[in-house]
Amino acid sequence: MSRLVLKFGGTSVGDVDRIARAARIVAAERTPGRGLAVVVSAIAGETDRLVQLTRAFAVRADGGPVDPKTFDDEYDVVVSSGEQVTTGLLALALRNIGIAARSWQGWQIPFRTDNAHAKARIGDVRCNEIGASIDAGVVAVVPGFQGVTEDQRITTLGRGGSDTSAVALAAALGAERCDIYTDVDGVYTTDPRIVAKARRLDRISYEEMLEMASLGAKVLQTRSVELAFAKRVPIRVLSSLVEPGAPNPGTLVCPEEEIVEKQVVSGVAYSRDEAKVTLLGVEDHPGVAADIFGRLADANVNVDMIVQSEARQPGRQNIVFTCPDRDAPKAAAVIQEAREKIGVEEIHVRRDVAKVSVIGIGMRSQVGVARTMFAALAQKGINIEAIATSEIKISVLIDAAYTELAVRALHTAYGLDAA
Ligand code: ADP
Ligand code: ASP
Ligand code: MG
Repeated sequence: MSRLVLKFGGTSVGDVDRIARAARIVAAERTPGRGLAVVVSAIAGETDRLVQLTRAFAVRADGGPVDPKTFDDEYDVVVSSGEQVTTGLLALALRNIGIAARSWQGWQIPFRTDNAHAKARIGDVRCNEIGASIDAGVVAVVPGFQGVTEDQRITTLGRGGSDTSAVALAAALGAERCDIYTDVDGVYTTDPRIVAKARRLDRISYEEMLEMASLGAKVLQTRSVELAFAKRVPIRVLSSLVEPGAPNPGTLVCPEEEIVEKQVVSGVAYSRDEAKVTLLGVEDHPGVAADIFGRLADANVNVDMIVQSEARQPGRQNIVFTCPDRDAPKAAAVIQEAREKIGVEEIHVRRDVAKVSVIGIGMRSQVGVARTMFAALAQKGINIEAIATSEIKISVLIDAAYTELAVRALHTAYGLDAA
């Protein structure tokens, strides 16, 4: 008996016609001896609508901010409900074309998670019951995004979390693969919505996909790729917008060894969710950086790039770091509070910055990759404000107004443009 997990994102179940098409796609994958589980997102736009409803109570009646500890658990109850609707609708659509199907809610499987409401992490998925049911030929329709804590409280996995539900279920079921049906026909060299010449990749390694996702390509949630990599679940990303039977090769996310032609640069990603904090005239002695970044860590600020340079005054240095845009006010406040103690002269925050990255496993064995990047940006007159590198990626921080120009220039510079 083999097993397969299919996942349909929000646009792919965006209305009843699309749900009916998703049912036809599922039907085409049904073969004797193969159990099927289908993970669905909420109808496109529904989660946003539900989030918006909770906003009315995100500020205390007296005007102060509410404590997330007394908000996020019920937020999860509200926003997880979109997925319940689509599980029922898809199960009905399947029955409508003569296929045995039933829905399972997150707590019924269960998708056990930790207590971190609104961004919970899946731990154990025990799926003996659902496994037996799909092996008996009943298609399981399962909500993405939903989890349940040990003490039976509902959780959600963070925006875009249905990808992670699908991979977790595939791993737990020992599925041969996890097929992610979405509104593009695969993983592209960059976001096809902003670069018309982007190309679909036949294959991409887990490592590259992990970097692409965490550096801004939202086609797969980062955690889903981490999980697939750790559990060795092959992921295929493909279009839900074509009828079954039409060509739909998609992109396979797989181990590096299965990729014959290793590209120096496979893709370009961008993120506008960045802020830059500059600390001028910081006292220069051992322990200062530990103090600053310790305080930021205690405040749960996720620091990304860090650049340190000598200041003009002797015995002083300048420190620049980046963090997610929403954390910028908190980061500035934390430093401001301890300014005298740490010895910082000035604090500046810029929120109109973006991070643009090039990613490729071939970079490990190739020189001159950074030079190509910097030259292409210089040619367009784009200033680089900070740089970060790893073995398989180079990221630069730039003025957000130039994001699209930079992505297009880099896409061309590394020879990624479609003919
Ligand atoms: P779903 O609702 O199916 O989960 P998402 O909107 O989360 O779909 O992800 C698909 C979107 O990701 C695409 O419409 C595309 O604009 C965007 N995207 C960003 N970067 C890439 C990339 N490199 N390849 C493909 N799609 C990308
Ligand atoms: N419906 C959730 C969201 O919009 C989860 C998902 O679609 O993956 O974030
Ligand atoms: Mg998504």
